Amino acid sequence: MKTALITGICGQDGVYLADLLVEQNYRLIGAVRDPASAEKELPCALLDKVELVDWDMRSQATMIGALTKHSPDEIYNFAAFTSGEGMFEDAPAIGDINGVAISRMLDAIRKVDPAIRFCQASSSEMFGEATESPQHEETPFKPRSPYGAAKLYAHNMVSIYRRNYNLFACSAILFNHESKRRGLGFVTRKITHEVAKIKLGLASELSLGNLEARRDWGFAGDYVLAMWKALQQPQADDYVISTGTTHSVRELCEIAFTHVGLNYENHVKEDANAFRPGERFELVGDSSKARSILDWAPSRGFRELITDMVDADIEALTSTVKK
Ligand code: GDP
Repeated sequence: MKTALITGICGQDGVYLADLLVEQNYRLIGAVRDPASAEKELPCALLDKVELVDWDMRSQATMIGALTKHSPDEIYNFAAFTSGEGMFEDAPAIGDINGVAISRMLDAIRKVDPAIRFCQASSSEMFGEATESPQHEETPFKPRSPYGAAKLYAHNMVSIYRRNYNLFACSAILFNHESKRRGLGFVTRKITHEVAKIKLGLASELSLGNLEARRDWGFAGDYVLAMWKALQQPQADDYVISTGTTHSVRELCEIAFTHVGLNYENHVKEDANAFRPGERFELVGDSSKARSILDWAPSRGFRELITDMVDADIEALTSTVKK
């Protein structure tokens, strides 16, 4: 039985990966800052399958303690300030947790057991104001936010520890990935959640930023599968994980509202004050390397992804209203 240690296990990606690894019969260690509060956040189905242990991204001593005690074979790092609406707030904290902490982790691995395999959740935000399209593993990085800059530092450290210390350290350059577990600060979930509220008569209007903004949106469950596959290869490497297709926020609205028999134009207001700075460039990933080496492909199209999210929000809200 293999042991995997997951940071950020209560978030969208952590839960999808935990579900996948439970199926694969792994022993799971959830590395969290506060085990008591993490216990309340973790889905009930995972509670008896995950051992929650103390882990502080700011303290290498807690990392060394957990690695020594639990001897993981694999580590997946999802602990981070998320992108989305908050990615310009508190740059020093983002720099520490999303960036410097990854060098603490890699260094802890090197000291405790260099055979541990490590996968970092990197981000398409590292490409930022991309110089070419679509973006692939060799595309130059030009981050446009504190979030992107911190993730790029971590990404560089992964490759430095791989080269200098021969660690099996991989970086998955994840483009936007969504699901019913996505936080409400992201535009996909903000829209599907509000559509459900409007459909149930709990709201009538939805205020958004730039409707013409485009993203390469995939399904989170597929993206964590790619990360697991990366750690099963003979060699560590970096992989872009993306669908290769973009859609606009306007298309997203159209699909979500039409799915419940509504016209988005009657409900959506575009607020120019909510436009993001530095969004002139479209991010779209070329995942050919992952498709050929990892034998990976996205399983869900955009329409299905969004309509599934709307259905899940309607179901969740309906059961809350009934209670
Ligand atoms: P991100 O790619 O990690 O920033 O993911 P988001 O889901 O937060 O944003 C995706 C795109 O939707 C960005 O281009 C935003 O500018 C755009 N967008 C438009 N309206 C909104 C909104 O109301 N909230 C968010 N979060 N994004 C919006």
